[in-house]
Amino acid sequence: MLEIKDLNAWYGSSHTLHGVSLNVKQGEVVALVGRNGAGKTTTIRSIMGLMPKITGSMQFDGKNLVSLKAHERYRLGLAYVPEERRIVPGLTVRENLQLGLVAGSGKIDEREAIEEIAESFPRLKERLDQEGVTMSGGEQQMLAIARATIAKPKMILLDEPSEGIMPVLVEEMGVLFRKLRDQGVTLLLVEQNVEWALRLADRAVILDQGEVVYESSSEALLADKDMQERYCAV
Ligand code: ATP
Repeated sequence: MLEIKDLNAWYGSSHTLHGVSLNVKQGEVVALVGRNGAGKTTTIRSIMGLMPKITGSMQFDGKNLVSLKAHERYRLGLAYVPEERRIVPGLTVRENLQLGLVAGSGKIDEREAIEEIAESFPRLKERLDQEGVTMSGGEQQMLAIARATIAKPKMILLDEPSEGIMPVLVEEMGVLFRKLRDQGVTLLLVEQNVEWALRLADRAVILDQGEVVYESSSEALLADKDMQERYCAV
């Protein structure tokens, strides 16, 4: 579904990614892990068309991504939940969800979509008319995920969704990701909470200093404490 070959990325003159190649199959959950500064966010930003300069090739669902603008990538069925969530102040939960429909392909009935999403996110269902930013950090994260999910993307890229969130919500999030996977949604999960991510994922990829240094099944990395210690210790 997503095929990245020899991706290089720069912030100004700072060369951040060095020949990253990454494949994610349809319906797969891949955990992208590594230390702070390893290049995980930069990889996601490159996929979404948000980096100032990249080279290399990126295909999504058989289409070349490189020449497309960020909003065109959303329309192809790629969705992104950034680390900073970006819940819009002054808008209710419902209105924040409506923004997710604007970014999608536009063929979805709004009322039905919000009803359906409210079933999957019970915490949001009770708060549809509350201002989004008045919710707890974890609830706002759920809203950011719901907003990314509402237009039924084929693949969702998540940047550290569990960060700073209370354990009960992290558990709920895990249940939700499994449900999305069961529905055939492909997930790329960037996480510092490595064990949690590996329990959810099918495969793991480790980035270090802008390069892929390891790829395996999640079980294999879960069992390899040395490798986790070497490349994923915070
Ligand atoms: P973290 O978990 O800390 O976000 P990461 O693996 O996601 O880590 P990136 O954010 O992709 O890492 O950062 C990769 C490298 O690029 C780091 O050396 C970082 O300092 C640098 N970098 C990130 N954002 C910028 C920026 N806007 N301008 C210049 N350099 C940046």
